[in-house]
Amino acid sequence: MRALSAAELLAVWDRGLVQPLWQRALLLLAAACPEVRPETLARLSIGRRNACLLTLREWTFGRQLESLTNCPVCHERLELNFAVADVRVAEALPTIVLAPSAAGEQGQGEEYVLEHSGYRVRFRLPDTLDLTSVLESGQRFEDIPPARTALLARCLLAVERDGEVLASVVLDELPPELITAMLDRMAQVDPQADITLALNCPACRHRWPALFDILSFFWQEIDAWAQRLLDDVHTLASAYGWPEADILALSPHRRQCYLDRIRG
Ligand SMILES: [Zn+2]
Repeated sequence: MRALSAAELLAVWDRGLVQPLWQRALLLLAAACPEVRPETLARLSIGRRNACLLTLREWTFGRQLESLTNCPVCHERLELNFAVADVRVAEALPTIVLAPSAAGEQGQGEEYVLEHSGYRVRFRLPDTLDLTSVLESGQRFEDIPPARTALLARCLLAVERDGEVLASVVLDELPPELITAMLDRMAQVDPQADITLALNCPACRHRWPALFDILSFFWQEIDAWAQRLLDDVHTLASAYGWPEADILALSPHRRQCYLDRIRG
């Protein structure tokens, strides 16, 4: 994986504008990992995908993340300021992407086995293709239980009860504690899939956990950056007549030096 130039990131933004969010993640990773096949990137677990996005975000806009939120109790507007390192889980580092030849052979990714309440379950971790399939089937992630169920069903590879393989498995008919144990195990082996921030409000002292979605956060930043960059290209092209490619090839510092001269 490598950092993207301004021209490459702008091209990803341009192509991603008409794509759903999860496709934008794949466009970003494909541009940053040209040595890895797109199918392999789509098969990365959500945690590993997030780990790659965190690294790419750090290389693109730096290690500090800034965001705004509201306290759910007193509605105070709060500024969040944290580092990529604060939310990065060491075990979730993108080893697959850094070893593309091995990843190419892995296909569906790693399998896990869980034994619980007389059951033996073989499963894999959800990836971008699973998310795409669930969302395209009309499931909405605001309806967390059904979407989770649909995701889990896709990731279930085999179920044995008391040593006997079940021919067909209906997720709703499995014991709820087995499902909970599976979800816990998935969170444990793919810890970067859900990034939770422990927030506390300085005004009313309320404490609460908030999910942080690196994909939508990073894309919003890219969108704002692209709009500013196009403004700068417009200003420089109007003043000097340079083509877009030449302006994008300038370092941000040199672009700014010329903009300062134009603006006096
Ligand atoms: Zn508060």
